Amino acid sequence: MLGRMQDWPLRIMRLIDHAEREHGSRELVSLWADRKLTRTDWAGVARDSRKLAQALERLGIRRGDRVATLAMNHSRHLVAWYGTIGMGGVIHTINPRLFDDQLAYIANHAEDRVLFYDAAFAPIVERLKSRWTSIEHYVCFDPHDDAGGFEALIAAESGDYAWVEGDEREPAMLCYTSGTTGNPKGVLYEHRSAVLHTLAQVCPDIFNLEARSVVLPVVPMFHAGAWGLPFSCAAVGAKMVFSTDYAPDLMCDYMRSEGVTHTAAVPTVWLALIQYVEATGADLGKLKSVHIGGSAAPRSMIAWFNARGVRVGHAWGMTEMSPLGTVGAPTGDWDGLTEQEQLDQQCRQGRVPFGVELRIVDEEGQMLPRDGVASGRLQAKGPWVVAQYFQDENGPCIDDEGWFDTGDVAAIHPDGVLRITDRSKDVIKSGGEWISSIELENAAVGCPGVAEAAAVGVRHPKWDERPILLVVKQPGIELTASAVIDHLSGHVAKWWLPDEVVFVESLPHTATGKLLKTKLREQYRDFRLSSAA
Ligand code: AMP
Repeated sequence: MLGRMQDWPLRIMRLIDHAEREHGSRELVSLWADRKLTRTDWAGVARDSRKLAQALERLGIRRGDRVATLAMNHSRHLVAWYGTIGMGGVIHTINPRLFDDQLAYIANHAEDRVLFYDAAFAPIVERLKSRWTSIEHYVCFDPHDDAGGFEALIAAESGDYAWVEGDEREPAMLCYTSGTTGNPKGVLYEHRSAVLHTLAQVCPDIFNLEARSVVLPVVPMFHAGAWGLPFSCAAVGAKMVFSTDYAPDLMCDYMRSEGVTHTAAVPTVWLALIQYVEATGADLGKLKSVHIGGSAAPRSMIAWFNARGVRVGHAWGMTEMSPLGTVGAPTGDWDGLTEQEQLDQQCRQGRVPFGVELRIVDEEGQMLPRDGVASGRLQAKGPWVVAQYFQDENGPCIDDEGWFDTGDVAAIHPDGVLRITDRSKDVIKSGGEWISSIELENAAVGCPGVAEAAAVGVRHPKWDERPILLVVKQPGIELTASAVIDHLSGHVAKWWLPDEVVFVESLPHTATGKLLKTKLREQYRDFRLSSAA
């Protein structure tokens, strides 16, 4: 048949070209560790990225090479992304909160050739330099590090540069999962996967981004690429607001002074912010949308934002999914729901955008119904879902039909809404039935006086496992175990109630802010229950 459409590979650099051309003067603001503010705009980011691409070529970096960052969120980090990708390289964002062994493993496994780092992480660089075998060039991002620093590197270049073109299936970005067991695994994002993810992310029911948006990605650029926001903001020309520090007082001031409308982070960040606002009466300025993901958002947290007119997008995803899987957004049916029923809906993880397919299966791999009751292993498919980990000798990580097993346990409701019930390794198996640690934790966080809670399974002679609840109290509050149990009784089945409530000073977290369940399980597996005596 005569006639066809144009070839226009879905390459990431088209996003920054668009931002430069159509939204060139839209600002990007960075708050640095020394509390200084710097400002640039999309045209400035594009210009500096071209200079960085030239500089990387001058250093001998070639197409496909990995360029790593060990950094918090700021505009230079963004330039490192676009500059690397623009010269055909692969930007590898390393999570500085990982353990030394993991940091050593990751950079060597990725065969990183350059490392850009924040001065704050210089001690990590000093410690690991001798263990990193492939890094040839170390460049500090900070403004005050003159010789050999980032600004000096790009200042030497003209910026007269054309992006490397190529196939849309070429790799662009490498993110390692924050695996709690075994070695971290690398997920290699491609140009096409990132662009398609971007097109889905900006949609109203997903992140609802537009040219007027002012976006503060609290989620670090090393956690699944700040959930894709640095690409999506370029696509719509949103203003970006970066910070290297998330102390609640700083964040409140910063959100107000820059007019932040959208932000995204894991629940632990919001816990601290909410406590601060409650204690001081600080206001959140123009904030209208908060995305919460990475762990389940507690009901009380969602209600708190609802009461302030801030829309909560409860999101589920994972590094292996670029990371967007589902987001909660109101549908037409919500109009008939009471406030509490709407809150019930918001506690679930929402629905997929076009581009993600989900199903749940039982232990034998048989598909389970979307009835909101059956729960099973959650599997995913789509153009931004991993097919094979980077340099992984095990081959593809999808089955013959292309399904990737997420390692989560979930139910899917008839309206397509996903409800994550647990991580498959975290479910508490009691008397052959499953108890959701997430539901227990979320119910516990709703109890006045509870700052944070973790539910873990403890060995039990009769029931196999029974739950205990580890609780961190809010400072200066009197709280008893029976008050916590009383509260829980109103929210979960009787046989789910923890056999014991243990008050602890703090709970361990992973490098991406999730409860470190592996450690807690190890520590408490043999906890002596008085009920089992
Ligand atoms: P990561 O790759 O570090 O982002 O971790 C992904 C994992 O975090 C998922 O497989 C889930 O177990 C968990 N997760 C992410 N978002 C949520 C959510 N909204 N509710 C419950 N668990 C979540």
